[in-house]
Amino acid sequence: MGEEVKKGKVYLVGAGPGDKRLLTIKALEVLQIADVILYDRLVNPLLLESSKVDAELVYCGKLPDRHILRQEAINEKLVQFGKENKIVVRLKGGDPSVFGRVAEEIEALETENIPYEVIPGITAGIAAATYAGISVTHRQHGGSFAVVTGHNKTEDGKPTVDWHSLAKGIDTIAFYMGVSNLSYISNQLLLNGKKSSTPVSIIQWGTLGKQKVVTGTLENITEKAKLHHIQNPAITLVGDVNQLRKNKSWFEKQPLFGRHILFVKTSSEHSETAQALTDLGADVFEFPRWNWNEVHSKTPLWSDYEEILFLSPTIIDAFFEKIRKEQIDIRFIKAKFLCLSELSKRQLQKYGCQSQKIRHWEPTEQSLVIGDAIYDRQKWQEKWSNADYVSLGYQEIVPQSIQTFRRLWDEERIETIVFPNIKAIKVFVDALKEASFSVEDVSKCTEIICYSEEIANIARAYQFKAAKVNATLKDKHQLIDRLLTIEGKG
Ligand code: SAH
Repeated sequence: MGEEVKKGKVYLVGAGPGDKRLLTIKALEVLQIADVILYDRLVNPLLLESSKVDAELVYCGKLPDRHILRQEAINEKLVQFGKENKIVVRLKGGDPSVFGRVAEEIEALETENIPYEVIPGITAGIAAATYAGISVTHRQHGGSFAVVTGHNKTEDGKPTVDWHSLAKGIDTIAFYMGVSNLSYISNQLLLNGKKSSTPVSIIQWGTLGKQKVVTGTLENITEKAKLHHIQNPAITLVGDVNQLRKNKSWFEKQPLFGRHILFVKTSSEHSETAQALTDLGADVFEFPRWNWNEVHSKTPLWSDYEEILFLSPTIIDAFFEKIRKEQIDIRFIKAKFLCLSELSKRQLQKYGCQSQKIRHWEPTEQSLVIGDAIYDRQKWQEKWSNADYVSLGYQEIVPQSIQTFRRLWDEERIETIVFPNIKAIKVFVDALKEASFSVEDVSKCTEIICYSEEIANIARAYQFKAAKVNATLKDKHQLIDRLLTIEGKG
């Protein structure tokens, strides 16, 4: 992004319908540089993980009884931040101009002469249908498509639309915010000439692991929606295109569809297992998010050592950064490089260095361990204290990820927790404290999966009583097999 951005601007951004990957590249670019992000209730909290570590996050969840007042307060905030020359992202569910009140925000910004841009997003009416296996237009079943509000600002909340034209002229209709007026909407369409056998789908929480679809006809959909406890957010899709849905959609057929997994992260690297789970359709939250803080430690005489053990890929990056700054040529360091994981081994290879992955290690006085200033130091003290130790910095949990955790918890999107290593348990317990949760709160409603018996024993010592363990869980393939065989909710 160029100079123009640095001056400060307000971006009115569509966050897409739910699935965090349904975000435009342009939206992601501004999210990554924003100083302030004001986000709505229907924005997937996982998107906040792409912000700058020090971005200010403002939740604008609207409460039904304070709708109008809140919008005014949001407009004021946009103006205020805009005047402070900040890069402001106003993140709205779906597309900002589809029932998103973006015009009111634009008006407030124009009145105050604040520069802004609007970034479109994928709207729920199309995306939820797609993820339910329905195409909103079709050569045989639907040549026209309308998005219609199912709710209105009038006292009774009933939508005021031209029902006759809608019923007679439009093949596919997506009603937004329509759940509470479902019987009114169906009746109006029937009274105005739609056939009672017209198929209808209601798609709740479309594009997310929580997606739930109820199908019926204009005649029985109200009853069916009640029976299946459908609530907002949901799209009511009316029209013959609904015939395209056959049992389960491509999205719902994914092996891990409906599984909500929190994968505990102990460093800033993305986990390959977490990625594999996502690829199989799980809703994955890598938690917490980490930030690396460099500390200015005294440089050891690298050439004195015969062996150097790197405790994580992050440390490897920090090490190469340090020697780069010190203008040390890597060929000057003769020590053999050691590491603890395949990931670290690959990281070293990126810098042109080969290493040996160790399990049991007997360090000597010519051995050096490089780790971080907190967790790793403790590990060194317990295991290899006759080696020298140097810490190049420390990792810190990004406080915003605690906010993301709370929002996902409230949305019931945390059901399984994976501890891939021992450090993950302590990290998670500390993060829970920050979020004002107890181990007990979390253990009651989640399943805990550990990679090994040793990890599980420690988890139990921390009172994660329900920790399920499969001692053979060693790599991502086995973890995935295990998840597939658990009787999930999906
Ligand atoms: N600007 C948004 C719509 C905001 S109005 C967009 O373009 O999608 C809010 C309504 O959008 C909800 O009441 C619901 O009808 C619909 N909606 C938003 N996200 C949804 C989702 N993931 N699944 C189903 N409906 C959704």
